[in-house]
Amino acid sequence: MTIQGQDSEPQYEIHLLRRLLDVSVTLNSNLDLDPLLISILKATCEITDSEAASILLYDQNTDELKFVASNSPGSRSEELAIIKVPMEGSIAGQIVRENRAMVIQNAADDSRIFRRVDDTISFQTRSLLGVPMSMKDNVIGVLESVNKRDGLWTEEDREYLSILAGQAAVAINNARQSSDLKKAFNDLSQLDKLKNDFIAIASHELRTPLGVILGYASFLQDEAEGEASEHAAAVLNSALHLRNLIEDMTNYLQLGASELIREDVRVTALLEAALHDVQSLTEAKGHHVQVVNRDAPAIVYVDRLKIGLALTNILNNAIKFTPNGGEIGFGVEMRPREVWIKISDNGMGIPEDQLEKIFEQFYQVADHMTRRHNGMGIGLSIAKGMVEAHDGRIWAESAGLNNGSTFYVALPLSED
Ligand code: ADP
Repeated sequence: MTIQGQDSEPQYEIHLLRRLLDVSVTLNSNLDLDPLLISILKATCEITDSEAASILLYDQNTDELKFVASNSPGSRSEELAIIKVPMEGSIAGQIVRENRAMVIQNAADDSRIFRRVDDTISFQTRSLLGVPMSMKDNVIGVLESVNKRDGLWTEEDREYLSILAGQAAVAINNARQSSDLKKAFNDLSQLDKLKNDFIAIASHELRTPLGVILGYASFLQDEAEGEASEHAAAVLNSALHLRNLIEDMTNYLQLGASELIREDVRVTALLEAALHDVQSLTEAKGHHVQVVNRDAPAIVYVDRLKIGLALTNILNNAIKFTPNGGEIGFGVEMRPREVWIKISDNGMGIPEDQLEKIFEQFYQVADHMTRRHNGMGIGLSIAKGMVEAHDGRIWAESAGLNNGSTFYVALPLSED
């Protein structure tokens, strides 16, 4: 193998270095594989003054090289894509195995040239310069420059092509990772949609038979006497619980899906509505509710239903996680530019290390197999989503197990 020295004029070298720098910038800013490959081919021909160029990538599974791009006249990517170049007995294979450049000044009689490519695209390889495309010691493929236009391949050709191949390897790797990420994101979005469709269909389908059960159970409770009436009441209670779960599922879907319908609302109106929503549950558990600062003048610019839902979810928890006959506090604190809504209970409390986790979807303090309370663990994540959609904040405080909990919802005051 001979490599000619080139009586390289400094001007020409500077031009090539500039060109390499340009290419480097282009390659680093391109994350789409196809245009990236085209830029690499173009730069290869320009920098080494050749007729054509090809990129082959190594496939670890089949231990073969695959043509992924070529700009030989007459080559069509579909034709080349099906040609696999074996690792044994081919120049490209040798370049990958030995992780070094190969120079063929006269390809006419070289048996290592893989002739099937020339035959397929009616092209004749007269000379070839191939360099490994590697990242650290990992060779991902081969960059080939084919048919030097004038004279023989030079040492500079090899050096410049090796620099280009190193940059190309990083750029191709980045593009592949970006495409893998896009695919993973699309797969996840698809899965998310499937999950949401499933919840939407399931909750819709459950509602109809549940309506019938609720109707008949309440009828039976009124009509039946003695033990039968108690049984009907038990059915009614369970059916009501089921309805709450279905509502939770539907609310979960609406979170993020629907737009906010905002208006100026008095905070006390929100309080009254939430208290009304949980009235029967509060009475059933015999809790005492103390409302503080009931007449606070605060006005917030909110979607009344969504903030209402957040408050109801927090209140429901306070009632649910407090033993019968507990103390529930519900009140308003005026702050500069915002209002804090405070919901407290003297129930089972929350361990300090879980005060943030409880706002995550499906998170519950007690293991779902052993817990005594009903629910799916989405009430607080819905509340958090709703409050944050209004540029508000939500957080919880607790002095630990059995020492009660306090939840805060901070909302910006309306500017009008
Ligand atoms: P769910 O109530 O359906 O389990 P949430 O998202 O509303 O789901 O609440 C998550 C978890 O936070 C609850 O399972 C419970 O462990 C804890 N939690 C919420 N509110 C209280 C509270 N007031 N007192 C004690 N624990 C609470």
